[in-house]
This record gives sequence, structure tokens and C-alpha cells, in this order.
Amino acid sequence: MEAKITTKHITIQIIADTAGAAYKVSYYHFIPKRKGNYPKIFLQAGLHADEQPGTLILHYLLDLLEKAEKSGQLNAEFIVFPMVNPIGMAQIFNHHHSGRFDFSTGLNFNRNWPDLAECILNNEPEIPVKLTENEQENKNRILSSVRRWIADQAPITALEKLRLEIIKIAIECDVVLDLHCDVNATNHIYIVPQLMPEYQDLANWMGSRVTLTAENSGGGSFDEVWPRLWIDLQRLYPDKPIPSPVLSATLEYRGLIDVEEKLNKKDAENLMGFFTSRGFINSKIGSAPFTMPPALPFNATQIVKAELSGLVCYYVTLGQIVEEGELLANILLLDGPSAFRKKFPVYAGTSGVVFSMMLRKYTWKGQPLAKIAGNKPLSNRKGVLLEA
Ligand SMILES: [Zn+2]
Repeated sequence: MEAKITTKHITIQIIADTAGAAYKVSYYHFIPKRKGNYPKIFLQAGLHADEQPGTLILHYLLDLLEKAEKSGQLNAEFIVFPMVNPIGMAQIFNHHHSGRFDFSTGLNFNRNWPDLAECILNNEPEIPVKLTENEQENKNRILSSVRRWIADQAPITALEKLRLEIIKIAIECDVVLDLHCDVNATNHIYIVPQLMPEYQDLANWMGSRVTLTAENSGGGSFDEVWPRLWIDLQRLYPDKPIPSPVLSATLEYRGLIDVEEKLNKKDAENLMGFFTSRGFINSKIGSAPFTMPPALPFNATQIVKAELSGLVCYYVTLGQIVEEGELLANILLLDGPSAFRKKFPVYAGTSGVVFSMMLRKYTWKGQPLAKIAGNKPLSNRKGVLLEA
């Protein structure tokens, strides 16, 4: 007899800002059959709607979660949004899909997420005096305050509504993972420093060549919302017991073109390995398949930018370790008396691993050419650390 399935596939409809259109976003919710109070794991892909590897990874993860559910192995609830940004999916202009910035406002879909500690303190300034000596009570009070803040919001646009729907679900979760990709890159992770090295096993399961830490990268990125609520409140009220930050991270699965069945299936299996090793899935598991380097501060990463427009010819390959001053690329000049005859050299500004490069070879002033993860904080890397 087929086991009873408790998985729900839920669709949320969001009316568009313009007449006659609407978006749909759907998620799978896996719930263990045995009643109980389980941790909740949230996963999403495609917040930057033109970054597709995560969607295929979550497709394979859904298969694995369904199997675990059928065999009664779930030890946590899983909420999975394989394509979280239908607004970005619809952004086709002149045959080109553009899913990073909202066409309507120019906003990067992964920036300007709310600072929840600030939101609840503005909304309910009396919260601090209500904190007790009991951590669980404080957790409940703070989460209730966030829920009231959410209920007080009056989103107008489709993007505001979509964000609030996601916030409503993610705030209830104990693990929040956001799957992205870079342009052309090795696997890497963005995470707040307070969660490392505790979650080095996540990097090991993922095969993250570079794990970069920043508490506040200045952009209000999605993954920082959840742990920072607790980090900020711990800092503001050090004499009150406030829970540790939840695990949240941006998982960068290689580059734009790395949507590939075998590769992404293995990525899903490795994610499942991480969940199993952490006890969220009840099954025997070996150790992580990789031993990856420890985390580095994100302000030690150089984002190498083009100083002029031209054609980039790389001298390095992904994953290569370079020394400061080493030649990274030459840019063929397209302007001036030396046009098409001379090349302009680009050198590494720090020593480290080249973990991100461009796919298209025409560049212009200010465009990123490469990212080098070093271990020495760079003097010019302050304030907003993320690229646009
Ligand atoms: Zn992204």
C-alpha cells in the first residue's frame, strides 16, 4: 500500500502592477508524518531570476525529500521554493532575459531586504523592557513582534507583496538557504561570521571553494535578514538571553551556464547529505565528500574592475591561486591611436584564489572582471561590499 503523502504544493497568486496580469509563485511543504514540533528548513532558488542552477538542484532535492517522506525519514519540515521570483522570470526585453534587477524600479532583487531588528524596535519600542531571563520566552516575544510588524505592512506593488509572502514563511524557519550562482565561478558561500566555523560542514558538503563572511555587506541581502535579527538584538541587549542566530547563507552554485543534470543532481545529494548529517533526515550518512578551506572575511575579496573598455583576454583560470601583482588579463584597446594594436594589462591587487570571472569578453569602465578571495582585509573594501 502506498504511504500517505503529507506534502503540500501551494501556489500563491500575486496580482501584477499593470492591468490584466498576475504572477504565481509556488512551493512544496514537506511535513513529517509523526506529529511533533520539528525544525523548519527553508530553501529558495531564482531570487535573481536569471540564475538557474539552483532551480535544477531543488528539482532533484524535491525527489530526495519525497523519498525521505515516503519512508518516514523526515526529521524536519522542508519548505522549498524552486523558482521564487516570477516577476524576474517575466522580464524579457528584446529576446534577452534579465532577472537581477526589477525592471520597474531598478532594484536588485537581492538587496534592500528589511533589517528586522530595526523594524520591530521602531514598531514596538517597548519590546526591550518585555525581555525576560528566559531565552525561549524572549524568542517567542521577538518572533511575535516580527509577526505583528508583518501584519502591519501594507504592500502595494507585486514585488512588495512577493517579498512579504516570503518573509512571512522564512521568519518561521530555523535554516534559510538561498541558492544563487555567479557569472562564471567556482562554488562559494556568503554567510555571517557568527555562523563560522560552526557550519564549516555546509562548505564541506557543498564543495565551497571559498566561504566569505560579512555581517552586514551593506546591501540588505536576503540571507543576512534572518541571523542578523538575533545578532543585532544580542548586541543591543547583552544582559538578556537571546537565541543564537539561525543558519542562513547564500549558496553560489558556480556560474550561469552550469545547469547540468548530473552536476546539479550531485549538488542536491550533497545538500541532502548536509541535512542528514545535521539530523534533519533520519538516515545513516558518511562524512562530507570534501574538505574545503576555512572562511575568509569578505572585505579581503578584491573585485577587480575594468579601467577601460575593450576585449578581455584572461591569463588565469577559475580556482587559480594568484599572487599580488600577477597578470590576470589583458584588455585589447578599442579606442585611441593604439586601438586594436595594444593591450592594457590587469594585475591582481591581492593574493588569493580567483573564484569568479566573466563569460562575455567585451568590457567597459567599472565592470567587474574577476573576484579574488584573499585573507588580508583590503583598505578600499568598506561599506557596501557586494557588487550592484
Ligand atoms: Zn544571485
